Parts: sequence; structure tokens; C-alpha cells
Amino acid sequence: MNKKTKYDAVIVGAGFAGMYMLFRLRKMGLSVSVFEAGADLGGTWYWNRYPGARCDVESMQYSYQFDEELQQEWEWSERYATQPEILKYIDHVAKKYNLRSDIRFNTKVTKAFFDEKVNHWQIETDDGEKLIAQYCIMATGCLSSVNKPDFKGKESFTGSIYYTGEWPQEGVDLSNKRVGIIGTGSSAIQSIPVIAKSVDELTVFQRTANYAVPAHNKPLDPDQVRKIKDNYAEFRAKAKLTPTGNLFEIGKDSVTLDSEEERAKSYEKRWQAGGLPFLSAYADVMLDSESNRVAADFVREKIREIVNDRAVADLLTPKNIIGCKRLCVDTGYYETFNKDNVKLVDISASGIDALCESGVRIGKKVYELDVIISATGFDAMTGALLNIDIRGKKGLPLKEKWNEGPKSYLGVALAGFPNLFTITGPGSPSVISNMLPAIEQHVDWITECISYMRNKGFAVIDAQTEAEEEWISHVRDVADMSLRSTCNSWYVGANIPGKPRIYMPYIGGVPAYAKKCKEVASAGYKGFALN
Ligand code: FAD
Ligand code: NAP
Repeated sequence: MNKKTKYDAVIVGAGFAGMYMLFRLRKMGLSVSVFEAGADLGGTWYWNRYPGARCDVESMQYSYQFDEELQQEWEWSERYATQPEILKYIDHVAKKYNLRSDIRFNTKVTKAFFDEKVNHWQIETDDGEKLIAQYCIMATGCLSSVNKPDFKGKESFTGSIYYTGEWPQEGVDLSNKRVGIIGTGSSAIQSIPVIAKSVDELTVFQRTANYAVPAHNKPLDPDQVRKIKDNYAEFRAKAKLTPTGNLFEIGKDSVTLDSEEERAKSYEKRWQAGGLPFLSAYADVMLDSESNRVAADFVREKIREIVNDRAVADLLTPKNIIGCKRLCVDTGYYETFNKDNVKLVDISASGIDALCESGVRIGKKVYELDVIISATGFDAMTGALLNIDIRGKKGLPLKEKWNEGPKSYLGVALAGFPNLFTITGPGSPSVISNMLPAIEQHVDWITECISYMRNKGFAVIDAQTEAEEEWISHVRDVADMSLRSTCNSWYVGANIPGKPRIYMPYIGGVPAYAKKCKEVASAGYKGFALN
């Protein structure tokens, strides 16, 4: 690795976003260095190796589309790719475009200060390296800062504690162990059925019941794959016209257009088809509480049908709005609670009281465990950025700029932080859309912006405060129209004590967002100051 100290651009993070950003900037002739805290590429798919980890967006859509050759040559084996298969894909991409040569692994960026005198970023890493770059691009991930709740008595537990979001690279042998898992979000719901198969006893500590719909994962049908690949570009273009950048059929505008019988039929059809399209049976499901109740009741009824023990079924039945927390996609989750070695513990009243030497204590009862798995999620969207000491003009710390919640222009730039870009940052569709196209759209936009600056001789671009305020107010207005902003989800930061409550992603839909980004660029980067 070349130990230069001056680059055109530094990219932080080497997941899907950092990898594609490197590819684009290098192609444009920029000198680029990427820093990655992990020992290899992959981001989410490098860190989240827990049993059962796989994507919940279909593989044929959860993949890059920037190179027709790449999307034609890669063969996914299943409807939803497993974590190891996604890592294989990532390795294939890295080798194809020789990406690793410009990535510094096992290195965390700790500081990024903008020097106004010379208009460049001063960047520092945890191994003491200092370098400068004209552009600093944060590809640090929305779900990369692992939430590690500070459970009372954590140090006293004599067994092992693992986090789904930082699963040991070498794997964990859970066979014949007494395992406890804290959390019932997507990570837990994917891993519980797999873990339950090998352990002696599995105890699930549930604070809030969550909705899950079946994945109905299966090997991909070669004829279906051929059909998509024959018209991949068209398939991708159609996906970009959907609200979440995911191509699936959206049902009628309103649930009121159907009779009760038709509604049940429509949801049953989607339940049998499997996956996230369940929530698109009616376009008003996240806008109208009655429509939402119909969808929620359907799943609640399914839980009662699947789970044998009535009391357990009741505990597993979510009370809140469906789709407000991210809908989980499962393979045998509810069925797992019919197994003799699986126990559900309700901790909704007071959470985990404490960990103790032999396990977890809830009230006066101690659950004896060999292993505790914390599937407690992430400090989403802002965590990874705020873990870095980022300072903009006049030395303003990002922490201060964001003390009432994240503010950005289009989720990609921050007023007062010139030449800094955030891929899939708060204020963009990001995590409520298919992330791969969201990443590509941001990377393409940033690349074109830098290209524009170079062609026109501009050295600095900075979002204007008024444009940022206007965008943020629009982000809030559309969030307020949706039921999605009404519950205690990680989308609003409610999972992290003390985090300001703001609905972070842009919910106005992928097409409207992409149109706005295009208009801003076409108008010579409207809302930005360039010089
Ligand atoms: P990441 O993959 O998170 O990569 C960010 C990288 O930045 C990490 O490797 C991290 O180590 C590094 N980094 C952060 N801070 C620093 C620093 N200071 N210095 C150096 N390196 C740093 N999305 C979907 O659309 N569909 C799915 O099915 C789906 N499934 C998911 C399953 C799981 C278990 C999780 C956790 C997320 C899932 N997501 C899914 C969201 C997923 O995060 C994105 O799809 C995508 O992988 C994000 O890529 P990224 O490059 O933006 O970020
Ligand atoms: P999550 O959705 O935030 O779930 C965390 C779980 O831990 C919740 O049940 C939460 O309960 C519980 N919890 C958190 N802190 C706790 C505490 N102090 N005490 C007790 N319980 C606590 O996290 P995740 O499951 O890792 O998923 C995060 C996101 O990653 C998903 O929403 C999704 O976007 C992505 N993901 C996708 C997939 C996929 O299917 N492809 C798989 C995994 C993750 P409360 O609900 O009460 O807060």
C-alpha cells in the first residue's frame, strides 16, 4: 500500500457504498484512499455473520447494476442470498475491479477536520496516520454502529456475550449450550429458528413483539433468472419508479375499495408469496390506520394459527402499527416457539433487570445461561458518523450541528461541511428503500458533482443553510403524513437513550427524491455555494 499523505478523495468505509465510490472516482482519474475498520470488505455483510443472516430484498434486486457485464455474469443461487453468498459476490466485485489495492483495512478514521485556509480535509486514523484530501466521503453505513446496551452487571456474567452485528469471524459453536437472545428485531427473527436447532435451550427475551411475514425462500428458478437477465436494464428502470426502489406489484390505492373477503384474499395471496411485498397489498397501509389495522390483524391471526400455546401466541402478537418498525421477513420464526427447547420471556414491563454471574435476571427470576446473544440493533444512520470527530467550517463539530437531530441537504451534504458527502445519509430514502440502488444513486450523484466542479474549476462546494432547512422541513412534513413516524423505532432514534427523536430517512419515495437530486444538479447545484 502506497503511504501517500495527500489524496483527491478519502472514502471512509468499504461496504457496498465505499466500494462503488472507489470504483467511480478512480475511473475519473482521482487519487483515492479508502479506510475500513474491518479486516476485509463487505460492511454489513462482513460484520453480521450470525446464524441465518441473509438479505430480505430479493437477490436479483439486491445487487449492483452499474455494470451490465457484472450483473449478467453473477449467478445468485437463492431468492434471498445468504450472508456468505453476498460476501462471495462482494469478493468477486473486488477482484473484478481490483478494489482492495486502494483500501486500508483494520483502520478506523477517528477525525476529519475541514481546513478553511486551504480548503481540504485533514483526516486522522486510529493508527496515528494523518492525511489530507480535497473531498471526504462518508460511506460509513446506516447500520454499522452496533448498539451495546449497558446492562447492569454485564461484567459479572461468566459465560460469553455476542452481538449479532459484530459476530465473531470464526463463528461460534452453540451446540448443546443454554443460549439467551435479547431482542426480537430482524436479526433475532432471522437467527432464532436457526439457533434453536442446535442449542440445548433457547430463551428469547422480548421487549416488543414484532411483525414477521414468511420469506418463502427457495432456489432461484433458472428460467425466471434468464427472463430478468434478458431485460435487466428495463427491470432495474422499472424498480426505480417504485416508492422503495424494489420491483413488486403494489395493490389498490385503498383498502376501502375491497370487501372484507377480498382483503383477506389479497393478504393471503401475499402471505403465500412471501416477503416485503406483503405491505404493498394496499397503497394506503402506511397512511391510514384502518387500512393498517386490516394488515396487522391478518398477521395477528396467522400468529394465533401457527403458535400452539395461546399465552405464547398472545405475547408474540404485536400491538403496534405494522410496518412502523421495519417489517421482518422470517423462515419459521413463529413455528420455533412450538419447540420444547424454546422459551419466550416477556420483558416489556422493565426490560432486562440485570445480568448476573449465571445468566439474566428478570425480577427475582434468574435464567441460567452459557451464552447471551445481544440482537439489540444499531445506533442507526447517525451513529457511525458521530463516532468520528468531524468538524466543519469554524471548527464546528458535527455533534453540535446535529444536537437536535441530523440536518442535511438531500441526505448527501451538510451545510458548513464543504466537500463532505454522506452516502445514504439521514434525509435520503436510504434504509426505507432497497439500499443497493440507493447507494448507486448517491455515488453517481457525488461523482457527477465532483466531475462538474473539476470541469468548471470549482474547488469547494457547500450546501446553503436555507436549502438545508427547506429540505429538512420537507423531510419532516412527509414523515408526519405517514404512520411510520408514530412508533418507537430506530428510524426515529428511539432505540438509543437520549437520541433526539426525528424520523431520519426521507419517506417521499425514490422517484420524487431522484427527481429532486437531478433538478438540483441540472440547475448548477441549486442550493449549494460553489467557488
Ligand atoms: P456498510 O455495509 O454498513 O459499510 C460501512 C462500513 O464502514 C463498515 O464496514 C464499517 O466498518 C466502516 N466504517 C464505519 N465507520 C468507520 C470509520 N470511522 N473508519 C473506518 N471504517 C468505518 N438493506 C437492504 O436494502 N436489503 C437487505 O436485505 C438488507 N439486509 C440487511 C441485513 C442486516 C443484518 C443489516 C445489518 C443490514 C441490512 N441492510 C439491508 C442494510 C445494509 O446495511 C445495506 O444494504 C448495505 O449493505 C449498506 O452498505 P454501506 O456500504 O452503505 O454500509
Ligand atoms: P432492531 O430492529 O433495532 O431490533 C433490536 C431488538 O432488540 C428489538 O427487539 C429491541 O426491542 C431490542 N432491544 C434493543 N435494546 C434493548 C434493551 N436495552 N433491552 C432489551 N431489548 C432491547 O435491530 P436488528 O434486528 O439488528 O435490525 C436492525 C435493522 O437491520 C433492521 O430493521 C433491518 O433494516 C436490518 N436488518 C435486515 C435483515 C434482513 O432481513 N435482511 C436482518 C437483520 C437486520 P424494542 O423493539 O423494544 O426496542
